[in-house]
Amino acid sequence: MSRRRLDSRSGLPAGLLAETQTPISSEPLEIAYEVTGELGRGKFAVVKRCVEKSSGKEFAAKFLRKRRRGRDCRAEAVHEMAVLELARNSPRVVNLYAAHETDHDLVLLLEYAAGGEIFDLCVSEELLPEAQVTRLIRQTLEGVQHLHQNQLVHLDLKPQNILLTSLAPPGDIKIVDFGLARRLGTAGELREILGTPEYVAPEVLNYEPITTATDLWSVGVIAYMLVTGESPFLGDDKQETYLNVSQVNVDYSRDALSRVSELAVDFIRKLLVKAPEDRPSAAECLSHPWLWQQPPCLNPEPVLVRPVRERSCGAKWAVPLEDKENFLDSPHSHPKRFRLEEDTAGDGDF
Ligand code: ADP
Ligand code: MG
Repeated sequence: MSRRRLDSRSGLPAGLLAETQTPISSEPLEIAYEVTGELGRGKFAVVKRCVEKSSGKEFAAKFLRKRRRGRDCRAEAVHEMAVLELARNSPRVVNLYAAHETDHDLVLLLEYAAGGEIFDLCVSEELLPEAQVTRLIRQTLEGVQHLHQNQLVHLDLKPQNILLTSLAPPGDIKIVDFGLARRLGTAGELREILGTPEYVAPEVLNYEPITTATDLWSVGVIAYMLVTGESPFLGDDKQETYLNVSQVNVDYSRDALSRVSELAVDFIRKLLVKAPEDRPSAAECLSHPWLWQQPPCLNPEPVLVRPVRERSCGAKWAVPLEDKENFLDSPHSHPKRFRLEEDTAGDGDF
């Protein structure tokens, strides 16, 4: 695939940011840190846990390869660092502490998220109770809202890029992986950023303009996965996945959603709509009644939903004020429809 446009002014690939504030040290990482196990890897990066020798503090070091497919991609690595700097100041976005550079890599020292990916919660035999899911989705939306307020779009939101500070009980979320993120307005219209097929919005597949609404589609996919344990658009092959996405072919059948509350389905349905302009913003999503229910265990009465008027939901959330008591309160297993990360092998390239 070579749909790489250059910005005529800077010579950089379109939309890449080049300005960073964090000093980039050329000191070998091993002098100040003990680098221990691998936390994860993608096509062009490996992330390792490391411990600062002086303080004993843990970090995640993301080693971003500067040469990719035989060409110099330092600008892409610097861009990821620049986006992290612009996105800082939100507890929902992973913090950047320091940067090092070697001949091969730009190494970003990131806040360590010890709980791993929320992907593991989606594929676990025991799905999270909805009250926990809504907390994670609320936090994700807070992070997305912060990005959007700063004219940033993530464009690769998926359960592998949303981490937890601790696993059991699930801690707070941290959004990671800003390799595909862009600042709106820096490269004219954005059309050509490609995430992972299962999670990307129809406008991405159709090369139509990308906006903040593109991230909200992915939040809908993540919510579906957390409450059902299934990936809504995943087909047997890429073509089928594309078709499912572009036709918004989602299984809302009783079988798929038998243990999912009506409000959860309402929330998901409002995000998984083809026209980006018809999707609610992150701020509007944050006022959806699903996200503000009382957990059923604390509330023996029929589940009370905050009246729409109390939270200034706007017209987008014309949902029933009371939901059926239909929560994921017992362990169950679903047939899983996930493909491993290596198979999707898609970050930025499909
Ligand atoms: P890539 O661009 O290769 O997808 P990511 O930034 O998504 O790189 O990191 C790959 C994986 O490494 C993540 O999915 C996660 O499992 C792990 N990881 C990344 N950042 C951290 C972190 N700050 N703390 C703990 N694990 C991390
Ligand atoms: Mg990733």
